[in-house]
Amino acid sequence: GAQTQAVDTLVIGSGPGGYVAAIRAAELGQKVAIVEKNQIGGVCLNVGCIPSKALIGVGHAYHAATHDTPFGLTVDDPELDWQKAQSWKQNEVVNTLTTGVKMLLKKHQVEIYKGEARFADDKVVNVMTDDSSTLLEFNHAILATGSRPVEIPGFTFEGRIIDSTAALSLPEIPEALTIIGGGVIGSELAGVYSNLGTKVTIIEGLPQILNGFDKEMIQPVLSHFENNQVKIVTNAQAKSSQQDDDGVTVTYEVDGESATVKSDYVLVSVGRRPNTDEIGLNATDVKLTDRGLVVVNDQQQTTAPHIYAIGDIVAGPALAHKASFEAKVAAAAISGQDITNDAIAMPSVAYTDPELATVGETLMSIKDKNLDAKVSKFPFAANGRAITMHQTDGFIRLITDKETDILLGAQIVGPNASDLINEMSLAIENGLRAEDISLTIHPHPTLGEAIMDTAELADGLPIHI
Ligand code: FAD
Repeated sequence: GAQTQAVDTLVIGSGPGGYVAAIRAAELGQKVAIVEKNQIGGVCLNVGCIPSKALIGVGHAYHAATHDTPFGLTVDDPELDWQKAQSWKQNEVVNTLTTGVKMLLKKHQVEIYKGEARFADDKVVNVMTDDSSTLLEFNHAILATGSRPVEIPGFTFEGRIIDSTAALSLPEIPEALTIIGGGVIGSELAGVYSNLGTKVTIIEGLPQILNGFDKEMIQPVLSHFENNQVKIVTNAQAKSSQQDDDGVTVTYEVDGESATVKSDYVLVSVGRRPNTDEIGLNATDVKLTDRGLVVVNDQQQTTAPHIYAIGDIVAGPALAHKASFEAKVAAAAISGQDITNDAIAMPSVAYTDPELATVGETLMSIKDKNLDAKVSKFPFAANGRAITMHQTDGFIRLITDKETDILLGAQIVGPNASDLINEMSLAIENGLRAEDISLTIHPHPTLGEAIMDTAELADGLPIHI
């Protein structure tokens, strides 16, 4: 018979949503248990954010080692041991971080249950492993079960047709790779493999890849892809696939015409769906939208008042930092704090070449909302540090309220955009004006000075342009 254990707060899923919620709830004095059916750290640490960035680093190193520089360094036929790259990614990157998360959970006395959680009723979850079953009775639960890749008809994940998880652990560097879906995940992996010399084809259904970013932003990324001989087919529908011994042929349709492309593997990266269908939610009052997302209020509370939900299973962008922020809101709310999720700035990054980062309003959103906004743009070609790094592609764009000078949005395309965007998130979250940035001393020479330059431009007093 199953044993029953009692906890204050039960967290289901240990990704950047779940593990952060568990730690914060424990810090706030609760007895916490966390259930994970797979690996501690969730998608992000094991098969998402972290291993993808590790391989992006490998791609950059290889690309740099195979391209002559303008400052007299010539390169000659370097060799990449792919097995070593893979074991470095797993053992020294992923495992270091997941071990760290396990240690943090232990430090906060969070009980870890390995197994698959399923609601038995609205106060009890059954945790199943192959040979055991444990009943956990809780006062509050936080759902953080994340998402999984979507399959499309004709492209069942099998053999040479792979999802992003398999694409991060390929047995060899493919000669040719077809990627269906040029969103952030597809484009980042196109970057990895094209930097490693793979002939990449991207098949995208929409008029452009990286759809969340505007045309001007993606221009330098398209140039890099072109230099890497990446073929991008837009407005295209992947129709069917045919696998044989030495590869897989994809048939796709563009402008009513049929075409084919053959490659070693086909990565399907067309989106992810929330893991809300297999956790027994019908035993609770938790309501889902028709897309399977959990309905929550601004405290992350579901329609069952003692159950909360965070991360990829609730509305909004599927991003690790969003999951972690919502985790802290849910843990605080459960602990009785008067808190709401009122974040203004939700940054979003694509780790392409160059990197793309955006926060707050965009060119599209100011049009949609009919905002009286000023758009100021400063190129990295006018930034000293970027020139010394030989990375001058891209720009910084600030969107300010015309009347008040308050910062509404920022877009950064260029070297280290992923880190530079943080200054803009801080500014926007705190209602700063462009003037607050131009009156802040930025060290010279840095990429971040370009933010100050853009702010000066917004205020009509540019120095460097
Ligand atoms: P997850 O990380 O998906 O974790 C959910 C966990 O719940 C999983 O471990 C799962 O096994 C477990 N689980 C599910 N059901 C049960 C159950 N019934 N019982 C027990 N356990 C269960 N985001 C970024 O912000 N930056 C990036 O650079 C980035 N790169 C990415 C690259 C790739 C290739 C992918 C696929 C995603 C990337 N993401 C990135 C997205 C990011 O990984 C997700 O937004 C994030 O992991 C969501 O966190 P989560 O806590 O909601 O869920």
